[in-house]
Order: sequence, then structure tokens, then C-alpha cells
Amino acid sequence: MKNIVLFGKPGAGKGTQASVLKEKFELVHISTGDVFRYNISNQTELGTLAKSYMDKGELVPDSVTINMLSDEVDRSIAQAKGYIFDGFPRTTAQAKALDAFLSEKGMQVDATIALEADEDELTARLLERGKTSGRTDDTDETKIRTRFAEYNAKTAPLIDFYQKQNKLYSVNGIGEIDQITERIASIIASL
Ligand code: AMP
Repeated sequence: MKNIVLFGKPGAGKGTQASVLKEKFELVHISTGDVFRYNISNQTELGTLAKSYMDKGELVPDSVTINMLSDEVDRSIAQAKGYIFDGFPRTTAQAKALDAFLSEKGMQVDATIALEADEDELTARLLERGKTSGRTDDTDETKIRTRFAEYNAKTAPLIDFYQKQNKLYSVNGIGEIDQITERIASIIASL
């Protein structure tokens, strides 16, 4: 089992890279953002709750997100050769819950791969993506700035959290998609 956390600011390319890497390494891809969007489009109770935060660019509360993630893992664990977590964890409470949850199953986070890119570059990317993604949180610069502020306040401390566990790998997130995939793939292959 190889369990990988893909980490980075909004727009850093986590989803794009996870989609390629899951095929290459036969990993189950779990994107908490995608699970929330699925619930929103199916008008579930969870979707309605998540939307009220996502529409503002804020993080959905930990308790809701952690339970949802553990349900997703439980659902797929029988066939999984490992996971690629995309957009989770985003807070220290989530990271601790993930460690506890995986260790109960005899697993761990093997590597956290941080995709690095600066905020101006990412804002331009997100606004471009917003033209076609249908994501309302990608079309409004104020919401994008709130997402960065949430990242800086709540998610950035995880860099230290994973560095202390010797699990953090930084990757330059600027360049062609294929080049970036290669950078990440060489780290996963070396684990
Ligand atoms: P993403 O698709 O990863 O950009 O996530 C879109 C939005 O979903 C975020 O701005 C948050 O509102 C919410 N979200 C996704 N993952 C999480 C998480 N791990 N914790 C809290 N909120 C999340």
C-alpha cells in the first residue's frame, strides 16, 4: 500500500495530477472537493451544508469532512492498492484524524507531495479554469483570495506537521503537466 497526500494551494494542479497518477500507480483517488460537489449536484443534506461554506471559499467544518473521508476509504478499501488523497487533509485536525484512521487499518501516509506555485500565477489559472469548470468558487477573485487565506491560516501548518515526520516532498508546480507528473512520479516510485 502506498498512500500519498497531494498538497498545495487552490489551483496548484492537485486534481489534474491525481487523475494521471492514480492510473500510473493504480491508486484510489479521493478528492474531498469532488465528493462535496457530487453531493451538491445530488442535493443531499451534506451537499447543502458544504455549499454554504464552499460558496464563500471557506473550509467545510472538520467533523463533517473527516467523517466523509473515512466513509470514502471504508467504501473502497477492499480493492485498494493505496490511495491518493487530493485536497485532504487541509487542517491539523484532519491530518491527525487521517493518521489515526489509517493506523487503525495498519496503514500510514507514506508521502505528502507539495505542489509549489505562487498566488498570482494560481489566481490567473483559477480564473481561466472558472471560464469552463462551472465552479462558482473559481470565477470570483474575492472568493479565490479567501481560499488562499484559508490555506495560509489552516493548511500551511501541515507543511511543518509532515516535515517533522520526514514525509514532505516539495515539487515545482510550474511547467507542462507531463513534466510535473514526472517530478511527482519519480518520488512515488522511490518510496
Ligand atoms: P477543491 O476542489 O479541493 O478546491 O475544494 C473546493 C472546496 O471544497 C474548498 O474550497 C472547501 O470549501 C471544500 N473542501 C474540499 N476539501 C476540504 C477539506 N479537506 N476540508 C474542508 N473543506 C474542504
